[in-house]
Amino acid sequence: MLKFHYKYMNQNKKRILTGDTPSGRLHIGHYVGTLENRVKLQHEYDTFILLANVHAFANDYRKSEEINKNVYEVYLDNLAVGIDPEVSTIYLESGIPETLELYSYFMTMVTHARAIRNPSVKDEINYKKLDPSMGFICYPILQAADILGFNADLVPVGEDQLPVIEQTREIARDFNKAYGETFVIPSAKVGRVARLIGTDGKLKMSKSGQNAILLSDDEETLKKKIHACYTDPSRIHATDPGKVEENPIFEYHKAFNPNKDEVTDLENRYRLGKVGDKEVKEKLFVAMNNFLVPIREKRKFYEDRPEIAKEILIESTKRARKVVIEIVEKVREQMNINKLIK
Ligand code: ATP
Ligand code: MG
Repeated sequence: MLKFHYKYMNQNKKRILTGDTPSGRLHIGHYVGTLENRVKLQHEYDTFILLANVHAFANDYRKSEEINKNVYEVYLDNLAVGIDPEVSTIYLESGIPETLELYSYFMTMVTHARAIRNPSVKDEINYKKLDPSMGFICYPILQAADILGFNADLVPVGEDQLPVIEQTREIARDFNKAYGETFVIPSAKVGRVARLIGTDGKLKMSKSGQNAILLSDDEETLKKKIHACYTDPSRIHATDPGKVEENPIFEYHKAFNPNKDEVTDLENRYRLGKVGDKEVKEKLFVAMNNFLVPIREKRKFYEDRPEIAKEILIESTKRARKVVIEIVEKVREQMNINKLIK
């Protein structure tokens, strides 16, 4: 039996709560939007990372097999980019039923009009072409329960999630006003690229959009995706002046190519019509692949040791639950909800 000792437990550090919906493997947009911040901040904050399987049901409740598979993939992706399971707590959302209790109290506080006005929800309904379930419309309220259930101080997210964090802050303030000081008002922390563009040129790379370069893509897949990547549609010949802005291959160069001189040179030549897409893409492939090699290796380490991965998840979900149980108990007291049965 393996034992995991959390190196940084009980040090009265501020808390991070962040996570991903297991609707598919994670991509390079997740990396620059939130994963990189998680990895950087995990030593400074007591960090909790949520595998949001209950949220995934709100997308499509009939996909439980797929959701379970993706929980494992998203978990491996987090470990692969450098989340240290002895430092951070990666846990399964459904392993903490008290979160759902909190969710039901919060549901009474949010008006229908406020729920359907959330821009993140509206955008996602459009791009995912959903006939949204009630669970989907109310997902920011569940997310508020995920965050406030830990009294988290900081939430590393991509820009698309800012309206959701705003709603969490509102719920925390309204609760504190109604029942007395209970919750910390959490802040969002957006990554170095707030919203990475998709390979199809759409504004956001997305798991559900078929426009993502995955952190787990092998060399061949990466090559094919970069080759097929949208560039500047108005540029027909390599001698035509091209547009660098909102052009995915240049956005990716800027985000992942450490050779800044090479990027500037390619940009300058592209603008003047002095370089073809082929060369820009070949150089991008090299930079992206170099970035992904160590991530693939670390992923493989845990993939080959599923018993370790499983045990960490069980232990860390237990640890996370203890934190939430304490906070939800305080919530019940503040609400005086169990007065008659005490
Ligand atoms: P889905 O399409 O299923 O909603 P997703 O790709 O949006 O998937 P999520 O699990 O919803 O991924 O998001 C996890 C985190 O990654 C969130 O903080 C989100 O803001 C961030 N994120 C997702 N896509 C991007 C992106 N393209 N650029 C920057 N951050 C992103
Ligand atoms: Mg999303």
